[in-house]
Amino acid sequence: DTALIWFRQDLRLADNSALAAVQERPVLPVYVLEDGPCAPGGAGRWWLHHSLVALGRSLAERGAPLVLLRGDPRQVIPELAARIGANEVHAGRQTEPAARRRDAETHEALERAGRRLVLHRNALLHEPHLVRTGAGAPFSVYTPFSRAVFAGLEGLPPPQPAPDALTPAPAAPEGLAEAAFGLLPAPPGPDWAAEFPAHWTPGEAGATARLAQFLRDGLATYADRRNLPAAEAGTSGLSPHLHLGEVSPRTVWHAAKAQGGAGLETFLKEILWREFSHHLLWHRPEMPEEPLRPAYKAFPWRHDTAMLAAWQRGRTGVPIVDAGMRQLWRSGWMHNRVRMIVASFLVKHLLQPWQSGEAWFRDTLVDADLAANAASWQWVAGCGADAAPYFRIFNPVLQGEKFDAEGAYIRRWCPELARLPAKFIHRPHEAPEVILRGAGLRIGSDYPAPIIDLAEGRARALAAFAAIKGAE
Ligand code: FAD
Repeated sequence: DTALIWFRQDLRLADNSALAAVQERPVLPVYVLEDGPCAPGGAGRWWLHHSLVALGRSLAERGAPLVLLRGDPRQVIPELAARIGANEVHAGRQTEPAARRRDAETHEALERAGRRLVLHRNALLHEPHLVRTGAGAPFSVYTPFSRAVFAGLEGLPPPQPAPDALTPAPAAPEGLAEAAFGLLPAPPGPDWAAEFPAHWTPGEAGATARLAQFLRDGLATYADRRNLPAAEAGTSGLSPHLHLGEVSPRTVWHAAKAQGGAGLETFLKEILWREFSHHLLWHRPEMPEEPLRPAYKAFPWRHDTAMLAAWQRGRTGVPIVDAGMRQLWRSGWMHNRVRMIVASFLVKHLLQPWQSGEAWFRDTLVDADLAANAASWQWVAGCGADAAPYFRIFNPVLQGEKFDAEGAYIRRWCPELARLPAKFIHRPHEAPEVILRGAGLRIGSDYPAPIIDLAEGRARALAAFAAIKGAE
């Protein structure tokens, strides 16, 4: 009995529960390029393109070439299933609200013809609808969630190997596989992604290599170096691979545990932040748009397009913010510590709505993930389920001095500041004229003066938050 395997956020052959469920049968692997709410942002499209090429190659090597279709899955999946006589469609479960709706409707359409969509746990270590507090409710706070999930993961079975060969569906539509590669989303142009290949290798092999490299060079020192944005292999760089499921979280979990060491616990806790974000999104599908704390609906945001543009382009005059935003633009990724700093600066010092930052990240991050992105933005803005208190406002200059003391990160991404001594690299506008001249730097032309006075910005943010506090 032929089965359709519908790839989505599980673009891998190893430890793929949907694939494992059907690999003894003739299979037709398919990916549907969608428009609308399930489509990736710009940087995500670049990644998806290369990831699908890699997946297509691996599947072809195993005898079952990938079919690529463009359209609305609610229509094209049932049509394809009918065409090849597949009674079952297997896929990995997704947590995004639009994807859940699409899956429910696809299942209904299949059911009308006596077929069904079977969903498997493929993207997460736990099922968001199965983890509950003692009182039977979903979790809204990270620590009890992680404790509950951790305990449940003690007996996590080992990952399954990739199948060596697959049996292709006898009625596979001729020529569809090759022709459809012309439908692949074009990498965003003209030059945006030019530097991405220097940083990333999308696809399952790239993910496996990245994991091995992190285990070798990064895990042991993870707890000490994960907050240093200039550190080589300070963090794993696995986020875009995990987002598209090029490696399973189970594989990462077991590999890290097998190696053990000082950084292990901290690292596993970060993996559980990913799980927690998806748990939140499952139970609070409004999270990408609406603050989880209702009082924040009345927050007096300022909608200032010039401020937003300065932030987006890395032209705020605050070096750690600008370095982060330029790292994002050029490499499609930003270090977690710097994400927190730039996000705090946008929503607190500049009083721009967190949704504007979330949208920019969604379009420019190669790891853009609706759950992690929305949960993190809400956390920084203070309106999330488990948020930092609003009065904790990062001072970006002090953060820079603490986590990038020598300014190596600034020198890398803001080369116009590279010749400043460490003492002034995070506060170039305070440098005496002679230092600026020695560094070949003119504030206002080579590099902007700060677009906001940090003390004033802080006071203004506190006043704005105080205005809604009474409503909490
Ligand atoms: P590591 O430190 O090596 O962590 C390992 C893995 O754990 C990551 O790959 C990621 O899957 C997960 N993880 C780590 N921290 C978090 C976290 N705080 N929340 C959820 N998962 C986490 N992460 C995304 O994957 N996609 C996003 O769109 C995203 N947007 C963010 C927006 C903001 C404002 C902030 C502050 C954080 C955001 N994060 C997001 C979380 C975090 O910054 C990245 O996961 C991390 O920087 C990825 O780098 P890494 O793989 O080297 O992480």
